[in-house]
Amino acid sequence: IALAFAATALGTFPLILFGNEEQKKRYLAKIAKGTIAAFALTEAEAGSDAGSIKTQAVKDGNHYVINGTKQWITNAGEADVYTVITITDKSKGARGATAFIVEKGTKGMDFGKKEKKLGIRGSATREVVFTDCRVPKENILGREGMGFIVAMKTFDYSRPGVAAQAVGIAQRALDEAVNYAHQRKQFGQSISSFQGIQFMLADMSIQVEAARALVYRAAQIIDAGCKDIAKISAIAKTFASDVAMKVTTDAIQVLGGYGYMRDYPVEKLMRDAKITQIYEGTNQIQRGVIAANLIKELKKK
Ligand SMILES: Cc1cc2nc3c(=O)[nH]c(=O)nc-3n(C[C@H](O)[C@H](O)[C@H](O)COP(=O)(O)OP(=O)(O)OC[C@H]3O[C@@H](n4cnc5c(N)ncnc54)[C@H](O)[C@@H]3O)c2cc1C
Repeated sequence: IALAFAATALGTFPLILFGNEEQKKRYLAKIAKGTIAAFALTEAEAGSDAGSIKTQAVKDGNHYVINGTKQWITNAGEADVYTVITITDKSKGARGATAFIVEKGTKGMDFGKKEKKLGIRGSATREVVFTDCRVPKENILGREGMGFIVAMKTFDYSRPGVAAQAVGIAQRALDEAVNYAHQRKQFGQSISSFQGIQFMLADMSIQVEAARALVYRAAQIIDAGCKDIAKISAIAKTFASDVAMKVTTDAIQVLGGYGYMRDYPVEKLMRDAKITQIYEGTNQIQRGVIAANLIKELKKK
């Protein structure tokens, strides 16, 4: 459920950040009432290297004709409103991409099969296939050529949402581990009386609190209206998702063999945690963003 909202936010930030008044009136009110949104950038050959997308939008009078296939799109098929990043002028490189709003039901827009995944199985992940899909030019977000700016700015605002999702997963894993450690008896006593378990729980708690504080810090900076948010967003997303992976893995350790069984929720939490290190830019890419911003800040001094 958290992911359906997070992916809706991902599909909505382009409208909030780059939509004109007409587009905002038309779509934001609907989304606020519960319409689901999605964001389609990734393709089979273009993941971290988003600049190599091939989905093309060719101008034809007052329309653009979109052809290409987007892969692993969260909420695909469920969402009514899609932000789609396309190439409108290959020769212009990073300035040759354009973002469009495409509504579900538009002729020439179809969905592939639901992917079978390690975790987040309640979330639909599908291809979005465009075949001669005609979209009016009024559906461009920002201007022609701004597609990658739309995508990158969107991620700056959406990544703290992934971080929040990671904190939620980690908190639940910690709660389950504490509860179990208190109940489970071995050697005639509760396993929470063993220092080995106590220190593991303490470290999990330290990490969850630190991750939560970072998410709030990122949110505070964004709410204060700061525009230079790429670094703090990437820091929050990277730290919180790494914490979620570590804490959920440790929660299984606290539960021992029971943690490995599907009868208990912690194995699911570990499977759900993994994706937070991958989507909206892998944590390797985030570390690249953080380092690039450190150098940028140094040059400004
Ligand atoms: C469940 C799920 C849902 C998703 N939802 C969406 C969605 O809604 N919309 C959307 O557009 N996309 C979505 N994605 C795509 C997701 O954002 C990409 O999977 C992600 O950006 C990584 O791309 P890739 O999987 O092609 O990995 P690759 O880019 O092939 O990377 C493979 C490995 O190489 C590393 N790597 C790549 N380049 C570098 C580099 N320069 N430096 C260091 N390491 C590098 C990566 O970190 C990774 O470890 C989703 C993916 C999944 C699995």
